[in-house]
Amino acid sequence: MKELGQKIRQEFPIFRNNQRAAPNGASVPLCFLDSAVSSQKPQCVIDAMSYFLAHDYGSVHRGAYQLSIRASEKYESARAQVASFIGKNVKPSQIVFTRGTTESLNILSLGIAATRLTPASRIVIPAIEHHANFVPWQQAALHADCELAYIPLVGQRGTELRLDLNAAEKLITANTAVVALAHVGNVLGQVNPVAQIAALAKKVGALVILDCAQSISCIEGNPFDWGVDAIAFSGHKLYGPTGVGVLAARSDLLESLPPLLTGGGMISAVTLDESTWASGVSKFEAGTPPTTEVIGLARAIAWVEEVGRSRIHDHSARLAGIFAERIAGIRGIQTFYPGSGQETIVSFRHESIHAHDLATILDASNVAMRAGHHCAWPLARLLGVDALVRASFAAYSDEDDVEQAVEAIKNAIYFLN
Ligand code: PMP
Repeated sequence: MKELGQKIRQEFPIFRNNQRAAPNGASVPLCFLDSAVSSQKPQCVIDAMSYFLAHDYGSVHRGAYQLSIRASEKYESARAQVASFIGKNVKPSQIVFTRGTTESLNILSLGIAATRLTPASRIVIPAIEHHANFVPWQQAALHADCELAYIPLVGQRGTELRLDLNAAEKLITANTAVVALAHVGNVLGQVNPVAQIAALAKKVGALVILDCAQSISCIEGNPFDWGVDAIAFSGHKLYGPTGVGVLAARSDLLESLPPLLTGGGMISAVTLDESTWASGVSKFEAGTPPTTEVIGLARAIAWVEEVGRSRIHDHSARLAGIFAERIAGIRGIQTFYPGSGQETIVSFRHESIHAHDLATILDASNVAMRAGHHCAWPLARLLGVDALVRASFAAYSDEDDVEQAVEAIKNAIYFLN
C-alpha cells in the first residue's frame, strides 16, 4: 500500500514544484493533507484540459462549425462517462453539469421547496452537515414555511461518533418530504448509513438527497441502488478541476424541478410575454457551460477508475488510522476520529493551542492542513470546540506524510508552548 501513494505522487506535478529548502539545505517535501477541501490534479487531467483548449475548444451547442460540433460531442460524451461512473443503469439524461456540489444542492433544495414542500412538510438533515447541505435546506424551510428537523450525533470524542439512527427513525415521520445527508462527513470522516436512512425515508415516501462531495472519489456503489433520489458532487475533490460539479437525479424528479438559473441555452421558446424551458437536463444548464472543466472532470474520472476507488479508499483510510493513533499519543492532542477504520479524515485539536496557530506553524514545515470550523459550525458547537485542525488523506498520500506531519505537530507544540 505504501507504494500506491509514492507511485501515484509522481503523476502530480504539484509535489515536484513545492519542495522547500530546509535551513540545512535539504529539501522538505510538500506534505499535503488537505484533500478533503480540494484534491491535487494528476498530469493527465492538466494535459486533457490544455489539449482540449489547444485543439478542440469551441462553444458547446452553439455553433454549426467543426470546433463547436467537436466540443459538443466531447461534452456529451463526458456526460455519458459520468453516468456510467455513478452506476450501470444511470443514463446520461440524468446528469446535470453544475458548478459544484453547492450549486447542485441549491437546484434541489429550492426546486423541491417550490414544488413539493408545504407548511405541513418536514425536512430532515443531520445536525452535523457541511453548510452546503445545511443552509440550502434552511432556506427551503423558510421558503415553504415548514419544519427543518436535525438528526443528532451520538458518541463523544474518543468514542465512535455517528449519526443517531434511533433518533432518525423517530424524526422521519409521515410528513417528512425530504431527507438530505452527506455520504461521508467532511469533519469526522464518518461514513453515514445511507441505505438504512434511505429505507426509513422510503417507508414514508420522502425524497433522499445524498451529498457525495467527500465520498465520490473513494467509495464504490451506486447510490440509486440504495434508494437515493439525487446525488451531488464536485470535480475538484475528485482529482479534477474547480468550477464543475454534478447533479444526478431520478429522471422524474429532474423533470418536476424548476431551473435555478434562467437565460441562454435552457429555453425551448422565448416571446415578449413568456419563456418555456428546454426539456431534459438543458433546463438546468443556463449560460455557456464550463466545457474545459467538464473535459477535465471526465479525464479525472477515468484516472480514478484506473486507480480504483476501493484501492484509494483503503489506502487513505489505512494512513488516517496510523496518523490518528500516532497523534493520539501526543500530550495535549484531542482527536475527533470515529475510529471505525473507514475514515480517511482525522480532525484534532490541542487543549491549549488554537487550531489556526497550530496549522500556521505546520505550514513552516511544509505541512498543509486546514484549520477552522470546516463549514460545519453546528457540528463544531456540538463538539464544544471553536476550531479543529483536519488531516485528510488521498491517493497520493503516503507513510512519509504521516511521519512528516507527526514530527511537525510535535515541533509546533514545543515551539508554541
Ligand atoms: N459537502 C461536503 C461534505 C463538502 O465537504 C463540501 C466541500 N467542502 C461541499 C459539500 C461543498 O462543495 P463545493 O464547495 O465544491 O460546492
